[in-house]
Amino acid sequence: MALTGLEIYKQLPRTNCKDCGFPTCLAFAMKMAAGQVPLEKCPHVTAEAKAALEAASRPPIQLVRIGTDDNEIKIGNETQLYRHEERFYRPAAVAVRISDTLEESAIAERAEAIGRLVFERVGTQIKVNLVAVDNESAKADRFEKAARLAAEKSGLDCVLMSATAGNLKKAAAALPGTRPLLYISDPTEAEAAAGVAKDNDCPLAVRADGLEALAELTPKLTAAGVEEIVLDPGARGLKPTLEALTQIRRLALKSFRPVGYPTIALTTQTDPTMQAVEASTYIAKYAAVVVTDAVEPWQMLPILTTRQDIYVDPQKPVAVEPKLNAVGEVGGDSPLLVTTNFSLSYYSVEGEVEASRVPAYVLAVDTEGTSVLTAWASDKFNAETITRALKSSQVEEKVSHRQLVIPGLVAVLSAGVEDESGWSVQIGPKEASGLPSYLKKQWKV
Ligand code: SF4
Repeated sequence: MALTGLEIYKQLPRTNCKDCGFPTCLAFAMKMAAGQVPLEKCPHVTAEAKAALEAASRPPIQLVRIGTDDNEIKIGNETQLYRHEERFYRPAAVAVRISDTLEESAIAERAEAIGRLVFERVGTQIKVNLVAVDNESAKADRFEKAARLAAEKSGLDCVLMSATAGNLKKAAAALPGTRPLLYISDPTEAEAAAGVAKDNDCPLAVRADGLEALAELTPKLTAAGVEEIVLDPGARGLKPTLEALTQIRRLALKSFRPVGYPTIALTTQTDPTMQAVEASTYIAKYAAVVVTDAVEPWQMLPILTTRQDIYVDPQKPVAVEPKLNAVGEVGGDSPLLVTTNFSLSYYSVEGEVEASRVPAYVLAVDTEGTSVLTAWASDKFNAETITRALKSSQVEEKVSHRQLVIPGLVAVLSAGVEDESGWSVQIGPKEASGLPSYLKKQWKV
């Protein structure tokens, strides 16, 4: 939990020597509390005070890193139970499972399919993060080969899942320098797996039967030198898993250190639709890693969409830059469509224009990221703002006509826009999905 300036000040030497570059210890403490200066800037802080400050300022949920360099995934370090209280920061990593009982060709095929699970949504790329290799065979050689093949063919970092620490050791050695997440499913092997995690500098996920067992286990792992721990409470099925994940989150945020770690959830549904529902539910509350069998794009898209929605800042509308955009090979007689700079509105319009194959200009008016009706109701999408956007975009130099299309939902604006801008207004469809038909059949210069 973040410390206040006063709590930090109490641990400082309070000599006001200015060696840190600040006039007083209190000024330094306030800056440190705001995260603008590190403790190391004070050369006089005692080892005792340093330890106290570091321990007290540790996040309630440990930060865990999986993978390396550009592909590194950070999970944990969350501070809120409810998203609306602030926001959630570190999106859950989504992993798709591959069993090492499959033939090599099937492993390669599945891994390639997992690597292709990348989508574009509201201008952002969303994708699967990890491939989870499951040592169902219980054989070390098979597990090692499957891990190497899955990593190579998917291009993703791995979760290595086994009941045996020795098998984890062999598979981790096959992926040197990649920091896979090691997952040990047998609690009696957890301490041995901690040795493997420490030797290979990997994060470790442990399964135990219930919260008490987990709370007893984690101090043993930290004593063995593993700090980056991920918890599996052992519950299976939607309701028990949701309950366990919520309890861990609540306890962690109350600074109960033994469960102050991110969590992993494994889906168990066999119905393809329910696999997507189950994974999405765990993303919402509160898994940091979700392992699923859902490998079809139609299953994965809703899972990743849920994650994208949960992890945006709820107090900040998702907006695109307010400007004129050309969609397709536009010319002087191309239509000009006006919408707001709310991402979902803008990309819906852009997507439908692309689908129509009628090149068009799309003008995103600055409505502070609000949708058409919201912006209209709050007077951010009106004759003045549309006219201002038209002028600043200099679209009159790009098109030979003076006609613009406004969303059908705000047809009421047409007369005002015509008066204010001097452009003639055409009323477009109420929904973006009507644009292809409108552009092909109704639009005329
Ligand atoms: S260097 Fe340390 S002791 Fe000196 S003023 Fe800064 S915070 Fe205080």
